[in-house]
Amino acid sequence: MLRGVSGTGRVCAALLALLVATADASSYRVQPGDTLSGIAARAGVSAAQIRAVNARLRGTDQVQAGWVLTLPDRTLPAGTHTVKNGENLSVIAARYGLSLGALLSANPAYRDGKALWTGARLTIPGRSAAPAAAPAVRRGGATVRAASSSGSSGGWLWPVAGYHGVSSGYGPRVLDGVREDHLGVDIVAPVGTPVRAARSGRVLESRPDFDRGWGWTVVLEHPDGWITRYAHLSANLVQKGELVVRGQPVGRVGNTGRSTGPHLHFGTYLRWDPRDPLSLY
Ligand SMILES: [Zn+2]
Repeated sequence: MLRGVSGTGRVCAALLALLVATADASSYRVQPGDTLSGIAARAGVSAAQIRAVNARLRGTDQVQAGWVLTLPDRTLPAGTHTVKNGENLSVIAARYGLSLGALLSANPAYRDGKALWTGARLTIPGRSAAPAAAPAVRRGGATVRAASSSGSSGGWLWPVAGYHGVSSGYGPRVLDGVREDHLGVDIVAPVGTPVRAARSGRVLESRPDFDRGWGWTVVLEHPDGWITRYAHLSANLVQKGELVVRGQPVGRVGNTGRSTGPHLHFGTYLRWDPRDPLSLY
């Protein structure tokens, strides 16, 4: 916990009580002459960890006197964390000043794709004294970068490992003699191949959607307004409302709905405005 909120190196009892009450993180009012690196050093965390929990510091190290910053609390004890509504693994890791890799190491079931539900209890490992730079961890053949340095969920992960053949691209096409706009790409892969979440997020839909031709489909919403659709699945592995982490299997490739062979239909939207998925990789 950071001392020096008043700039004197002392924390009064009332403020201490307030900081204890907020539990997950403490706050700090920026003083004239402060720098982000100085604040980070005194708090025992990295500048990147502070940026990860303060949206106004995205892409900048400049702080202004009077700002109140949220600080990841290095003194928050190891123990357990009960998952709250809206949290995902990246968010929880950042709040404890942990890398995503460290949190997954302490909770290996989630590395293997276990669903993260509100109310679930996570083991919070002890943190080494030196703030770790956000490391990349190997997972299922894909590199998953801990998100604490950027505050985002990382880059886009190709949803079908090992299969990059696209049988039908994004845009106008003729299918069954009907001209249509194809709002995604069709990735050819065998039935049963795991389909991975392209980014961390929340399950918006997981259902059969045969009326619109999608067959069994999963739709994920991501924190910054992006939405991803995975269609024609043979199996859905997540349920509506569930929080998923980037790379987590959400379904299996199939041939359900209006589909002319085993493939994944992968669609990407920004606030439901369709975009070409291939422009994101
Ligand atoms: Zn398609």
